[in-house]
Amino acid sequence: METRDLLVIGGGPAGAAAAIRAARAGCSVTVFEKGPKGRDKVCGDGLTPRAVSALNELDIPLDDAHRIDGLRMIAGRTRRELAWPSNGRFAPHGAVWPRRRLDEALIDAALEAGAEVLFHTEAVPIFDGDKVIGVEADGRRWTAPLVVVAAGAPGTVARMLGAERDPREPFGLAIRTYAASPRHLDRHLEACLTLRDEHGTPIPGYGWMFPAGDGTVNIGVGALSTMKGFKKLNLNTLQASYRSLVQDEWELGPDLERPRAWRLPMSTVRRHGPGWVAIGDAAGLVNPMNGEGIDYGLESGMLAADLFVNDPGHVAEAYDQQIGERFDAFLRTGRRFSFLIGHPWILRSGLRVAVGTQGIASITLQVMGNLIDNESPGTAGRVMRVADKTLAAADPLLRRTRAAA
Ligand SMILES: Cc1cc2nc3c(=O)[nH]c(=O)nc-3n(C[C@H](O)[C@H](O)[C@H](O)COP(=O)(O)OP(=O)(O)OC[C@H]3O[C@@H](n4cnc5c(N)ncnc54)[C@H](O)[C@@H]3O)c2cc1C
Repeated sequence: METRDLLVIGGGPAGAAAAIRAARAGCSVTVFEKGPKGRDKVCGDGLTPRAVSALNELDIPLDDAHRIDGLRMIAGRTRRELAWPSNGRFAPHGAVWPRRRLDEALIDAALEAGAEVLFHTEAVPIFDGDKVIGVEADGRRWTAPLVVVAAGAPGTVARMLGAERDPREPFGLAIRTYAASPRHLDRHLEACLTLRDEHGTPIPGYGWMFPAGDGTVNIGVGALSTMKGFKKLNLNTLQASYRSLVQDEWELGPDLERPRAWRLPMSTVRRHGPGWVAIGDAAGLVNPMNGEGIDYGLESGMLAADLFVNDPGHVAEAYDQQIGERFDAFLRTGRRFSFLIGHPWILRSGLRVAVGTQGIASITLQVMGNLIDNESPGTAGRVMRVADKTLAAADPLLRRTRAAA
């Protein structure tokens, strides 16, 4: 049995962020990553100003990323080109950073900080009663006062910990590929909010073109589980129909790889227990309003590590409380919102309002991107508070009448 201060299962953004912070503070850290170094992750590669701020906090240089100045929202014939909010709370820009390179930059920073990273190594927690006391991988065992679970969308590790997705809550599915485009240097993310499936049902979700600045664009579509017919939704068909919509405007070349899909977990029944905490996707920390998860992985990873460094004996409860204070209300509102837009007629009329004027669309961007300044919340903050209260009141009805089939 080997001993460490901190063991991290999963070397994505969440696990790497926890490892960087703890190793820089002098802790001995081992990260277990079942993939190879430079593994890819199915993702849109989009970083909001909130995510860029988290990377800045970790001192990760963004020279290799493509700078993004705002979002182009498309709803039917309406197009709104929106700058990121300039409330000073987050970085003034976003970015697109293909995950193969972003994740490698993060794991390199963890290695540089002194963390040990074991690639091609699938780990599982080991228990003493109900307490997690370490991990086991390849027939070897490690022990530590805290195991950080950063294993992404729930799988074996989540099952062992009883930390799976809450079956009452929504989740997302999304698919993406890359294609060459002369517009790869475009400085706006583009989101088409009026997708329909092959039966004409409006999709609560969006199609995206995220220019990567390296000759390619990331092209994909995502949908929420609250839509009618979700179980039968064919993401490949949806992706193909979105591609044909944007093909000419973006002068797209052929797909550079087969489109691949993955889950977006938006809840968990447990995110801590004796000897362990879950961070990032493993904790269900994905924004239901835009599918963003990289930032939440980075923020929760940093928080878990900082709490460990400050008081190794009391991390799990403190983490649960502080992550709750930071994100629970917003994510709960987002999940309620996703039940609301699962109803096609609400989605259609809501969209008309949300992109109705440039000003309202800007507020939509701030609310949906969780980019509101808490100190001086302004109109977006007030909209969020009203939405919060209204959706809380409507929640039982929304769940009872959920559109999903
Ligand atoms: C199609 C799609 C598009 C998306 N687009 C965006 C976007 O544009 N912007 C955004 O912010 N978010 C986006 N997301 C969400 C984002 O990809 C995730 O939220 C993010 O990757 C979460 O990071 P993580 O570190 O928690 O998990 P992951 O990135 O999934 O990393 C988990 C790691 O754990 C490893 N692992 C798992 N089990 C074990 C084990 N037992 N032992 C060892 N290693 C293990 C895996 O190999 C993996 O490397 C998208 C998601 C999808 C599916």
